[in-house]
Amino acid sequence: MVPSKPTMNLANQMIRAGSDFAAYPATANGTTVLHRYDEVAERAARIAAALTADQQLQPGDRVALIMNNCAEYLELLYAAWHAGLVVVPVNAKLHANEFDYILRNSGAVLCFVSPKLKSAVESVGGDSLRCIEVGGDTYRAMLKHKTCPVVARQADDAAWLFYTSGTTGQPKGAVLSHRNLQTMCDCYFADVDPIEPWSAILHAAPMSHGSGLYALPYVMRGGCHVFGERGSFDPAEVFALIENWPGIAFFAAPTMVKRLLNHPNIGDTSNLKAIIYGGGPMFVEDCLAALQCFGPKLTQLYGQGESPMTITALNADRHADSNHPRYLDRLASVGIAQSAVELRIADDAGKLLVPGEIGEILVRGASVMNGYWNNAEATAETIRDGWLHTGDYGVLDNDGFLTLKDRAKDLIISGGSNIYPREVEEVLIKHPQVAEAAVIGRADREWGEAVVAYIVSADGSSINVQELDELCKAEIARFKRPRHYRQIDVLPKNNYGKILKRELRELEK
Ligand code: AMP
Repeated sequence: MVPSKPTMNLANQMIRAGSDFAAYPATANGTTVLHRYDEVAERAARIAAALTADQQLQPGDRVALIMNNCAEYLELLYAAWHAGLVVVPVNAKLHANEFDYILRNSGAVLCFVSPKLKSAVESVGGDSLRCIEVGGDTYRAMLKHKTCPVVARQADDAAWLFYTSGTTGQPKGAVLSHRNLQTMCDCYFADVDPIEPWSAILHAAPMSHGSGLYALPYVMRGGCHVFGERGSFDPAEVFALIENWPGIAFFAAPTMVKRLLNHPNIGDTSNLKAIIYGGGPMFVEDCLAALQCFGPKLTQLYGQGESPMTITALNADRHADSNHPRYLDRLASVGIAQSAVELRIADDAGKLLVPGEIGEILVRGASVMNGYWNNAEATAETIRDGWLHTGDYGVLDNDGFLTLKDRAKDLIISGGSNIYPREVEEVLIKHPQVAEAAVIGRADREWGEAVVAYIVSADGSSINVQELDELCKAEIARFKRPRHYRQIDVLPKNNYGKILKRELRELEK
């Protein structure tokens, strides 16, 4: 007998929440509750039925979401899965050309769009793309449709096309299956943050990325999804919402944590349950400052679109364990492998390395994507012998703690020695005059590459190169010291706040 493939549909998370947490608040705008879980579950089921009956979508069709963070985001994710469709959440801050690329690349047939983005989206994506404005007439009509049962899907069927943020080139669509995302949820509870009933999640970061992914475990536990009313990350609003919502947590990029720390009026944060940060490097200095400000409520995760939110985690206990002899090393790390994945470090020839040796981080497990959408070549390059090649360099210690070095492409090779920019940046950031630092390599006749540091001054005054050089001499090998310093007003960043080193390298050409 041929074993049948396991069925799985994330839509069942919402069905269950709709009955088990029926009266719990599910969505809120600021401090105002919008809908309870039974209502959101019903709205999702009605939209799902309309997508199938009126819009004539078939299981496996792609539905793009080009939307600012809003409560409808949640019901649309679940409505699409309910109808057996695949969501393509797109960062709302992208350029219209980038919308066009993702819409065409994913083959999306329908796009839900926020009113403010309608005109930008309507002119792109090809003739066959249909747009539905969130909250508009068609949307309201969909909410009146009779509900329908959940369409059965298999565990490996696509649920979410996650377009990588493209720090190194054109975005690629990582195909995330129902199993991948269910695994991410399980790891959230085991390794990141055990959610208690009545907890809430503030969607302070884009729903198209980490915050949207982490909405799922909150549905599983009936947490309330809180949306800010300012439309973008606003520290004053975040502090006000923390004061209003007991047991609130949020996902934040390290730059957001830094903005919170720099805010002049840090309110009462006793309601705060957890800040889950990741997606880019957090410097130890900043981490210590955040611990001092918020208490032991920080958790770090390391993941990438190809293994969403699920590679390693440094949980709150590890952040609080200040008596540990290697505490600072651990804070500088991204923690240990999450429960569902295995980690390896390998050299460029694929040979496995032992703890203490730096190499590429490889990951295997149920959270790892099956491949990139319609891109067999990139898939074959990235997943080899069942291992996801992350393109990140790192080193494991004897206890399994992983410290990230850099993206393979950001590594500097000077005079034949490897220099990991992160190590130099960690030192530069300690100087009180340095608000941000980004280190890159520029072509150099003598050394192959020379280290260049881009510095954002904390107070706008000219940076003191001599002092920075002294600091580096005191803390790192001489060959790693920047040969050139450039002061810059702002570092080029993408819409997720990741520094675009390739743009800095362009400036050096
Ligand atoms: P994305 O696929 O857009 O989420 O980007 C993933 C990349 O962000 C990873 O491959 C890392 O280079 C970086 N990244 C993610 N989490 C962390 C972290 N905790 N610390 C440093 N870099 C990170």
